[in-house]
Amino acid sequence: MSNTEQAPAELACRSLPAKSGVEVLAARDVPLGGPRAMRVRRTLPQRQRPLIGAWCFADHYGPDDVAVSGGMDVAPHPHVGLQTVSWLFAGEVEHRDSLGTHALVRPGEVNLMTSGHGICHSEVSTPGTTILHGVQLWVALPDADRNGARDFRHYAPPAADLGGVVLRVFLGALAGLESPVPVYSPLLGAEIVLAAHARISLPLMPAYEHGVLVDLGPVGLSGTTLQRGELGYLPPGTATLELANPKGETARILLLGGAPFHEDIIMWWNFVGRTHEEIEAFREAWQREAEQFGLVAGYAGTPRRLPAPPLPAIRLKPRSR
Ligand code: MN
Repeated sequence: MSNTEQAPAELACRSLPAKSGVEVLAARDVPLGGPRAMRVRRTLPQRQRPLIGAWCFADHYGPDDVAVSGGMDVAPHPHVGLQTVSWLFAGEVEHRDSLGTHALVRPGEVNLMTSGHGICHSEVSTPGTTILHGVQLWVALPDADRNGARDFRHYAPPAADLGGVVLRVFLGALAGLESPVPVYSPLLGAEIVLAAHARISLPLMPAYEHGVLVDLGPVGLSGTTLQRGELGYLPPGTATLELANPKGETARILLLGGAPFHEDIIMWWNFVGRTHEEIEAFREAWQREAEQFGLVAGYAGTPRRLPAPPLPAIRLKPRSR
């Protein structure tokens, strides 16, 4: 794997004892920008860990008091080469996209948007939302599928009670539960809630790598303690997920897994591409309101659409594993 970034490492990362095999990735605090700047905890991409399977982006936010933070109001912006996966723990977000979708994102229900060759969408927390708490995840599309059609799916997975542990599988399959939501590479996404002092062992796909993102913690992962906001990485070859809640309060994690994604990608702003020229062309198409991304109807906020930032002066290079 090569490091293609120019900036010095401001990403806080600590490697834990090799004994447990768990690598702990710390989050960095990122303001989303705009007049009402929501802050998120970003655990992917990281310099030394750009992807987990095809998962290429993970933002964790809240619980935020909307009266203080202003909530979420993201004007129409484009995506290409990826799928967005929205998952909430609290609150409600109104989604509109250029496929014509008008949908609500609710706790425990996944909204998966496939950009195909280009899509745009807006995301606004609803007036009834008082606390906003969730994750925004992206999945890179393989080269063979990244120029396909736009798509949007909503799925409310059943809650499987495993005795002190409640499991919801929103992408892929785990513990006999399977999501019907379409993915383009072998992938897993699940929410696991552990009651006070609960423990669980679940069989994993050994061909996958996995990440455990802690929403409510601490949580023990194969003997390593992960704090809230941290992402514990399990390399391919891990056959069992060992989780333990050491405390007398509920713990909650998201499990993200997938077969190692072997394509080199370039992520810039809201685009996933393969070359600098391609990213430049996506940016230019968005700026001139090209048909590639379509139009969002019904977004009442301002600005009418988010302008792309200027491209960096340096040539964008792929992140290779
Ligand atoms: Mn988006």
